[in-house]
Amino acid sequence: MAKNKDKGLCLFCNEQKPSSQLFSSTYFDGVWICHNCIEAGHSLLEEQKRKQMEAAAAADSLNKDELPTPQQMKDFLDQYVIGQDDAKRNLSVAVYNHYKRLLQEDSSDEVEIEKSNILLVGSTGTGKTLLARTIAKMLKVPFAIGDATSLTQAGYVGEDVETLLTRLLQASDYNVKKAERGIVFIDEIDKIARKSENMSITRDVSGEGVQQSLLKMLEGSVVNVPPQGGRKHPDQECIQMDTRNILFICGGAFDGIERKISQRMNTQVVGFAAQQQAAHVDKNNLLQYIAPQDLKSFGLIPEIIGRLPVLTYLRPLDKQALRNILTEPKNALTKQYKKLMAMDGVALSFDDDALDYIVDKALEYKLGARGLRGLMESVMGDLMFEMPNHKNLGTTQSFTVTKTYAQEKLEQTDLYRLKNAV
Ligand code: ADP
Repeated sequence: MAKNKDKGLCLFCNEQKPSSQLFSSTYFDGVWICHNCIEAGHSLLEEQKRKQMEAAAAADSLNKDELPTPQQMKDFLDQYVIGQDDAKRNLSVAVYNHYKRLLQEDSSDEVEIEKSNILLVGSTGTGKTLLARTIAKMLKVPFAIGDATSLTQAGYVGEDVETLLTRLLQASDYNVKKAERGIVFIDEIDKIARKSENMSITRDVSGEGVQQSLLKMLEGSVVNVPPQGGRKHPDQECIQMDTRNILFICGGAFDGIERKISQRMNTQVVGFAAQQQAAHVDKNNLLQYIAPQDLKSFGLIPEIIGRLPVLTYLRPLDKQALRNILTEPKNALTKQYKKLMAMDGVALSFDDDALDYIVDKALEYKLGARGLRGLMESVMGDLMFEMPNHKNLGTTQSFTVTKTYAQEKLEQTDLYRLKNAV
């Protein structure tokens, strides 16, 4: 066999090659393979891997019969998100249409269904991210979150808009096909509004410039994505991603937009019929009347507004909503603590007035829904430290969190510090 190399024979293609192009087997003496065969094998493997990934993506993808109806989507959202009925309905319909569009993509008639990216307007901590995350969970599609404030125009310090897609790729284990049907949530989109509607075109690194960079991605284009994120540089290998079928959900608090809404509504109110209509305006929740022109007055460029055709709003959470958040969602905080304690053999319960007290504190210190977790941690911290000790005694323990207990624990907590943490 050793003769092969002398003859320069590759055992795979049986062709004569110079010995510098032959590689020997580590196990069998005299077995050689040439670099052409190695390359051919490598591309075969790559091709096989690509096909497997595509097959996996196709198997993962929704088919028409599996696509939940908007009602089913809303029912699912109801299990995790309290209130926000209008947002849930609008989101469900938009997501349903988006995936229907995707399933019918190769239809040959001329009616082209447009992309239905979504804009959720509502104060911070009202459930915008939670809604987007929950709908992605239901559809089992990759989901990525990014913050518009960290993005800057290409060439400036900060992140390129493409990093949003890098995160989506990471969420789908670099399966490009799967990522191309995912959902990206872009938070704080209001922070990249230009400062004044009539501002002249000057350098506005984190405002209009970023809006411009987002435009193409929202609409659908092929984007070069750096697989590890960070700044793109010329000799970096990029992955091409088509954003046509990625659903973008944007969220923002749009602080002060009520003023723009009210101004618009006042200027529109002319004549008797309009006066009657004005009487029905709910001044406490002007956000429900939000319209695209208010976003323009706020400083979003018309092109961005046009690419976010589904506009909906979230209500501020009142006392009852906060109270429900503690107990009702499938993974409500109280349920999580009960489960944790049950694992240590402790039957945990909460008195109603203890929960009311915690909600009152959240309202008093303006901690919102996001602050509930911190408050609960402060109440439960000592208990979670001490109770597991009883496990060794082998007895079933029970503990009820009373208002007095919650009060005692929260009085030891610096609630202002908690406020800074949310
Ligand atoms: P936003 O994106 O609007 O700033 P989030 O969705 O991140 O707010 O909400 C923060 C946290 O508050 C969530 O993780 C969730 O625990 C809780 N939360 C907020 N709104 C709701 C809601 N409507 N129903 C249930 N939980 C909520």
